[in-house]
Amino acid sequence: MGDGNTASSTPAAVTEMKVDPARAAALAANLGAVKERLANAVSSAAYFGSGRSVRLVAVSKLKPANDILALHQPGDGQEGQVHFGENYAQELRDKAALLPRSIKWHFIGGLQSGHCKNLARISNLWCISSVDSAKKAKLLETARAAFQKEVASASESGEEAGPIHIHVQVNTSGEESKSGCNPGDETVALCRTIVEECPNLKLLGLMTIGAIARSKAVASDDSAENPDFVALREQRDLVTKALGLTEPLELSMGMSDDFASAVASGSGEVRIGSTIFGLRPAKADAKLTV
Ligand SMILES: *Cc1c(COP(=O)(O)O)cnc(C)c1O
Repeated sequence: MGDGNTASSTPAAVTEMKVDPARAAALAANLGAVKERLANAVSSAAYFGSGRSVRLVAVSKLKPANDILALHQPGDGQEGQVHFGENYAQELRDKAALLPRSIKWHFIGGLQSGHCKNLARISNLWCISSVDSAKKAKLLETARAAFQKEVASASESGEEAGPIHIHVQVNTSGEESKSGCNPGDETVALCRTIVEECPNLKLLGLMTIGAIARSKAVASDDSAENPDFVALREQRDLVTKALGLTEPLELSMGMSDDFASAVASGSGEVRIGSTIFGLRPAKADAKLTV
């Protein structure tokens, strides 16, 4: 198939990939600290349920596959991190081909129509968090349906490809530079298309990135709510009502600098990169493996 992602379930590259023990220990400590802060944020988020579970997506963009392997297979009986997020379609494909299939990948970057087909052919792509048009939803649907057929008829590969979970990205801040569909009718219509016309996609919820300035403005004030988080919650309620959904939609919001406040505002998924992996290199300097 030529995309390198259809071979046996443990790619040979995994057994050859070196994990530096000092780096692995540092990553594990960072992840542990983030998990602890997340657990504290959840337990004090009384209004939206202090017992709920919030998914932690480790955002590994521009970081080498070795780092991901270190967190996914930490050894000594420790539980590995399963959900990893990437921003660039080609980088995600390359990493998915190298790393164990037990990873659940999230595509969280700006989604381009031209990348939909190849993304849909990554069997363990678990979620795309940046769907912002019906055209892209349909491209993903068509490509995933075709891929599932191929996978089913080549059953000896042992591969499976379930529906792809979807977050609709909403531009809650109204900034020109941010992608995402507009709140209101546009968001409702896109969610409706996914629910009613895309059986190989599963609408999981809504995602926002939000304005940095808004995140900073509330950082110093525990009682203030970030308007982007409030807006996403309102869009979720609007969609739930308009579509008559019985299953609750989740909110994907919160990054390194504002995840505690996002959890306090009802987030069901936080996407955390630099606090776990450290500062990112420039894209031109990023290496697939080290
Ligand atoms: C890079 C990125 C993140 C992670 O950002 P950090 O500040 O490094 O935690 C989260 N969400 C999206 C959409 C991103 O592009």
